[in-house]
Amino acid sequence: MAQATESESRKLLVALRDAMAEDAAGQARLDKIVELTASSMGTEVCSVYLFRDADTLELCATEGLNPEAVHQTRMRIGEGLVGRVARKNQIINTADAPNAKGFRFMPETGEEIYSSFLGVPIQRLGQALGVLVVQSKEAREFSGDEVYALEVVAMVLAEMTELGAFVGEGAALSALHQNPVTIPGSTAQEGVAKGHVWLHEPRVVVTNPVGDDPEVELTRLDEALEQMRVSVDQMLSDARTGDAEQVEVLEAYRMFANSKGWRRRMEQDIARGMSAEAAVEKEQSAARVRMEQVGDAYLRERLHDLDDLSNKLLRNLTGQGRDTGAEMPADPILIARNIGPGELLDYGRSLKGIVLEEGSVGSHAAIVARALAIPLIINAAGITNEALNGDLIMVDGDQAIVHLRPDENVQTAFSDKMLMQKQAATRYADLRDKPAQGLCGTVIDLHMNAGLMADLPSLEGSGAQGVGLFRTELQFLVANSMPKRGELSAQYERVLNAASGKRVVFRTLDIGSDKVLPYMKPEDEPNPAMGWRAIRVGLDKPGILRMQLQALLRAANGRPLSVMFPFIAQLEEFKAAKSELDKAIARETRLGHPLPSSLEVGAMLETPSIAFAPQQFFDDVDFLSIGGNDLKQFFFAADRENERVRKRYDTLNTSFLNFLEMIVNKCAQSGTLLSFCGEDAGRPLEAACFAALGLHSLSMRPASIGPVKHMIRRLDLQKLKTVIDEARASGAQSIRPAATAWIRENSD
Ligand code: PEP
Ligand code: MG
Repeated sequence: MAQATESESRKLLVALRDAMAEDAAGQARLDKIVELTASSMGTEVCSVYLFRDADTLELCATEGLNPEAVHQTRMRIGEGLVGRVARKNQIINTADAPNAKGFRFMPETGEEIYSSFLGVPIQRLGQALGVLVVQSKEAREFSGDEVYALEVVAMVLAEMTELGAFVGEGAALSALHQNPVTIPGSTAQEGVAKGHVWLHEPRVVVTNPVGDDPEVELTRLDEALEQMRVSVDQMLSDARTGDAEQVEVLEAYRMFANSKGWRRRMEQDIARGMSAEAAVEKEQSAARVRMEQVGDAYLRERLHDLDDLSNKLLRNLTGQGRDTGAEMPADPILIARNIGPGELLDYGRSLKGIVLEEGSVGSHAAIVARALAIPLIINAAGITNEALNGDLIMVDGDQAIVHLRPDENVQTAFSDKMLMQKQAATRYADLRDKPAQGLCGTVIDLHMNAGLMADLPSLEGSGAQGVGLFRTELQFLVANSMPKRGELSAQYERVLNAASGKRVVFRTLDIGSDKVLPYMKPEDEPNPAMGWRAIRVGLDKPGILRMQLQALLRAANGRPLSVMFPFIAQLEEFKAAKSELDKAIARETRLGHPLPSSLEVGAMLETPSIAFAPQQFFDDVDFLSIGGNDLKQFFFAADRENERVRKRYDTLNTSFLNFLEMIVNKCAQSGTLLSFCGEDAGRPLEAACFAALGLHSLSMRPASIGPVKHMIRRLDLQKLKTVIDEARASGAQSIRPAATAWIRENSD
């Protein structure tokens, strides 16, 4: 019996494939498909309904219903049985349609005489395209085999990429990836960008959903699975010693690759006439639908893994690689599930924007995107599914929104916004050579943060007085192997040359936490942000620190040098780090190499503990720089990479400002130079409040210098300080509302 059903469904599929291959107009082909399906399934009616727009379905072909109703009958999603199939993305199978929940009578179709109804969603990779229905007069429920057969037809239909063309006259939109979509995400780098989609991993196109010979298809599937199993095993043995998370993902891959259930379902599909790739894609579609319904984060991750694995299998089967021959648009906006910093740098500044389905604000990719000043949105759910190469896309990094295929209203509003930003940029450029001096006369020093050679040109253009934070780890992160001392000193020399005498504060390597060097064995730590990172690594394994210090001394080659140690949590750590520097200086002296003409040695203030260090610490350091990103996360015990808790605590929170003020006062007493180089220094309101509290040196990404300077020049910082004091005295949790209101009224 099963054999007979299989050969029946195979015959239907082959007939469908032939119908699709015929050189007929789209409508004629669709008519042929409904006719073939109805006769093969022994039903009086077979109809195809397709989405006309995101909310409306349209009858596009029918065998059995009134032909006049084609392209006339329409229903809203959720309306009638067809609309319910579409909304719930679920099959409806009933022997008594007129009495079924949600039934809506459509007189123009003449369907009142049909009792049984079977509707299945037409969807491709989780994207709803329409509904396929069979109906018959005889009151009966359809068997499991029949349901399955109709699902297969729906899948073949979904593969007809010109499906949208079937929607009737006047339809402006078709369902398949043409409707405008707005996707919210989280901002990892501000800014707005307009461009066209460039998929980091282009979708595999299944061109032939029907297999001629099941034996051949089974062998192809077996070979592709084997090839994949071998490569997963290989990756696993390479990763064994490495990152625990990567191993976990690969273990999940291996579990799926060996999963009997997964394989059996694909074999059944092949036995019923599908090609090997169509069988893989059918499973992938089912996984995507489940993915949307599953609430549990762990399970969803596993379904993501299955999705990735299906993609690998499809690439094995079709031979389609990442390079599809498509040409990158002139204004590419990169879309990816996630991306590593090295891959991102390969694209470089050619990208106008980046949208990631996953990612985190503190990730390497985010650091690189920030360094390149490319707007980046993360956590944009479903973007890799929705976007197609070449789609128009607008990225609003300020509002954390992605507009995919935006309609005209959105396009106009967005263009206005871009124009305003451009005008603002011109205004800021005019300020370039003017000081950041408040109306009260106080002058604030503005420096820029950098980490790559590519950042240095901004030193000139932004009007920054120097580089307040050079994150040396970025150059380590993008290398394929540990850089040698000679390479490092050449890099630092280039940085100093490009700075042409302006001060550059080199922060020694801050690795660990989320910054894992690809060529160094990562530590499996329960809490990496509070783990073995930065100066802790430098002091425990001093080889790299020593090499870096030597490279810096040599790069300075008789010029001034500023070195800063990250993540100093107690005085002894600073002393130990400084003693490494002293040893390096002694060694250079012995070797007869020129020493820097002057040397400043400072520390980052990133842990609350160091703010309470003995006075000697403040006397010993030449300067301190507050790393607000880390300091804030430890002050509030709120992970900077965890979007949920990160946003709970305002930087302008009274307690945090009190703490900053305490540090300012301490440094004033000992005459220690103090600056602030976390991301908050680049936000105009925050920067103004810091300045009002006595932080007179700020370091930020180059694009923030103009807006911050513009803000400071409009304000009397002493008056702002009074506003802050009053708000604090009134018991306000955050001084933001008071400061915002005052600035609105009192800046010109
Ligand atoms: C900081 O913590 O504020 C800082 C500047 O360092 P990073 O962001 O590189 O940890
Ligand atoms: Mg830090």
